[in-house]
Formats: sequence, C-alpha cells, structure tokens
Amino acid sequence: MSALDGLYQEVILDHSKRPIGKGALAAGSNELTASHHEFNPSCGDEIDLSIAVDPASGLVTGLAWEGQGCSISMASASILAQLVRDEQLTLSDAQLRIDAFREMIQARGEVEPDEDLLGDAVALQGVSKFVMRVKCAMLGWVALEADLKKVAAQQG
Ligand code: ZN
Repeated sequence: MSALDGLYQEVILDHSKRPIGKGALAAGSNELTASHHEFNPSCGDEIDLSIAVDPASGLVTGLAWEGQGCSISMASASILAQLVRDEQLTLSDAQLRIDAFREMIQARGEVEPDEDLLGDAVALQGVSKFVMRVKCAMLGWVALEADLKKVAAQQG
C-alpha cells in the first residue's frame, strides 16, 4: 500500500467512525426540502438523504441523512455531507459535483479527479477499481441527485 492509499484509507475510516450530517434535517419554514430513499441491493446499503434549499438564494443550506451499510457507503455519504456543508452550492453546482464524482468512480482509476470539486471525496478514487463497490460509493450521491430533481420540480 502506498502512502497515499494509506492516507485515503484513514479519511474513509474517519468518516465511517464519525459520520458528518447523520441525523435529522434542520430546515427553516420557508425553505424547500426533499428526501429520497436509496437502496443498494448488491450490498444491502440503505440511505435516507434530505436536503434543504433556500428559495431566495437557490443555495443548498442543509443536508442530513440516516442510513446503514458498509463503511464505503457510509463514509461516502459523510464526505458528501461535508462537501455540501462547507461549500455554498446551488442545485447545478451540486449536480456538477455529483457528475465529477460519478466520472471518477466509474473511470477505474483512469481519470485524475478534480480535488477542487470533490474535496475529501477523492479518497474514494480507489473504489473505482472494484466494480462491486461502485454502487456503495454512489449511494448518497444518487440520493442527493434525486433530491435535487425534486427541489427543482418544486421551484417550477
Ligand atoms: Zn456497500
């Protein structure tokens, strides 16, 4: 294992031990909210992921999730929650992050991920070599993608 792989392992372990964003969503009464349940039958991972969006600014102001599953799926959801918490993302910014993450995870290690877009999520790059784990890593991100669509539909 290289030093970088070791560092990435640590990031994943850290997030699976102390998950960020796990719990109930706190949303203001004027905010748009959406929730989505996603299930990965190949591993048994499940997540309920909710977001809050401020209708005035169009920014994602909150993300919370509950779930159970393997450490990859839970760490990935935690990393995603951190990314949304730390950045000021519009719906399309968030979709851009999801697209970049999906590209990295499906590239089997052949694409150099954009750390500016993905933050700690680059630690999951190694997962792309394991086809069986791709759905684990994508779980929270697919749920967020569904939430973004639901909020966009409410905006009309
Ligand atoms: Zn899994």
